[in-house]
Amino acid sequence: MSNAVQAEVLSARDVPLGGPRSMTVRRTLPQRARTLIGAWCFVDHYGPDDVADTGGMDVAPHPHTGLQTVSWLFTGEIEHRDSLGSHAFVRPGELNLMTGGHGISHTEVSTPSTTVLHGVQLWVALPDEHRHADRDFQHYAPTPVQVDGVEVRVFLGELAGDTSPVRTFTPLLGAELVLEPHATTTLTVDAGFEHGLLVDQGRVTMAGTLLNPSELGYLAPGHDILTLTNETDTAARLILLGGPPFGEEIIMWWNFIGRTHADIARAREDWMTGNRFGVVKGYDGDPLPAPELPNVPLKPRGRVR
Ligand code: MN
Repeated sequence: MSNAVQAEVLSARDVPLGGPRSMTVRRTLPQRARTLIGAWCFVDHYGPDDVADTGGMDVAPHPHTGLQTVSWLFTGEIEHRDSLGSHAFVRPGELNLMTGGHGISHTEVSTPSTTVLHGVQLWVALPDEHRHADRDFQHYAPTPVQVDGVEVRVFLGELAGDTSPVRTFTPLLGAELVLEPHATTTLTVDAGFEHGLLVDQGRVTMAGTLLNPSELGYLAPGHDILTLTNETDTAARLILLGGPPFGEEIIMWWNFIGRTHADIARAREDWMTGNRFGVVKGYDGDPLPAPELPNVPLKPRGRVR
């Protein structure tokens, strides 16, 4: 009989992003079983997609409030523009962290030179006291760290002796790991954090649980060591997320995070008729209209455990 800790396995569902040819993403967060891992509240995983088939990414101006977005690529390039005036290129291994705060709008378009698009889009919920923060955009390219069979790129927080300088509103961990074939690695982590491990490539055992590609393994707080084994004979690529349990209920609807139905209704109204979210310059196309609100009040999720 094994006393190995079992991680919870969160499977992905396919979500079409819309548009004529429509790129599809694999979404593991949020889902019925789980709303948040730390402040991480949204995990979309896509590719490798041949953009000749999918049309690539072309997301027209749309708003965000109450959250930060993280774009992290494995392959390809995305052109980012936002209403702060930021114009940046998202490239593999480079963090682009956009703070929506009270309100921002942005566009994301894969560049003409991109033939294969492969990466993740992640959201971070802002704590109540900072959810109306100023809009912001930070870029950071971590230097890879080699330890014990794994190459680590720490884009947020601290891992494997490396610390990201990027400011967050709650303690967070975000890192890309590339684990050598059949390697086992032991990483020291914060026991106060809960963790999520997204498998991009390979099959990996975490805390005695086998995770297949596109699955997100969840581990509750209480572990100061994370043992990962690559069960395959090729390199495994993973995204490790973590943070202390968020401790607040949130409402996520479309591109907004609030605390009440009224927060969301106001944000929707402000996007459709106001100037709260600013204007994106340099994008050829119309802003995305918000969907209609449901007829029943939106309910908070992410109850404190
Ligand atoms: Mn967005």
